[in-house]
Amino acid sequence: MIKSHPYVRDPALESNCIYVKRDDLIPYCFGGNKARKAFLFFHDMDAGDYDCVVTYGSSHSNHCRVVTNMAAGRGMMCYIIAPDEVSDPTYNSQMMEMLGAEISYVPVKTVHDVIEKKLDELKASGRKPYFIPGGGHGNIGTKAYVQCYEEIKMYEEEKGVHFDYIFHASGTGTTQAGLICGQLLNGDNRKIIGISIARKNPYGRDVILKSVRDYFTSQKQIVSEKFIEEHTVLLDQYIGDGYAAGNENLERTKKKVLANYGIPLDSTYTGKAWYGMQKYIEGKKIKGKNILFIHTGGTPLFFDYLRTS
Ligand SMILES: *Cc1c(COP(=O)(O)O)cnc(C)c1O
Repeated sequence: MIKSHPYVRDPALESNCIYVKRDDLIPYCFGGNKARKAFLFFHDMDAGDYDCVVTYGSSHSNHCRVVTNMAAGRGMMCYIIAPDEVSDPTYNSQMMEMLGAEISYVPVKTVHDVIEKKLDELKASGRKPYFIPGGGHGNIGTKAYVQCYEEIKMYEEEKGVHFDYIFHASGTGTTQAGLICGQLLNGDNRKIIGISIARKNPYGRDVILKSVRDYFTSQKQIVSEKFIEEHTVLLDQYIGDGYAAGNENLERTKKKVLANYGIPLDSTYTGKAWYGMQKYIEGKKIKGKNILFIHTGGTPLFFDYLRTS
């Protein structure tokens, strides 16, 4: 007997053509946008004289998992400073441990000082630490998503398609800043919509604006403020419980997307982004458009939630 699965499809969503860019399948340490960023940070590091890596993130951090793995691949020590407020064991933290990282859990308000101290200590003992900001934030991380934007352009040219909208999960805002920079450098007309997973506006959007300006400054590019302002859209109404977890709508969305399209989403990032995209499309009655969803990864989190739900 064939039992049909119980999840109805979404007519509002499916009256558009939805494409998914699978950055979760980037072939390094379970992928994701942190892998895309980390490649560039390590490329920068390899060009200099460094012998260990220091970074920051919680026990849930996709960024710390990937960075630890890349350091281990080079036979380098990786030092992680982590907030002890979010220190419960996860698949990501278990992997960091197995990959040999030294993880120091400290109160979140002391993190900045502890990082400085760690870097000073390492240098004093003759080591050459390379520091990567939490989440892969900064111009190098932004550049990774300028490159992603170029891949999207290439795909469009190859397939003769134009994406009217791009949706994705936004945390530190680096991913979004890179996509926006790519759009502005190409002068393209489309909407890039970040779904905030933790930060409220205006702060969340201000951080993205700053990242966009910083990147253009670093590239000695001049882009009009009006253009930047117009193209920076961060929706902050789908945050739920922030980095912590999900709710019923989110859980239903995740199950539905898995059953209907075979795509795993997690409750911290991509589940919220998909839910936000769906609500936006329904609310604005968008039809007949080409819509790109960037799956930013978080595969180990998908399994954490399976284990606990
Ligand atoms: C970090 C992360 C994001 C957010 O990316 P930012 O560049 O920090 O905005 C989105 N999805 C996943 C799975 C992540 O790990």
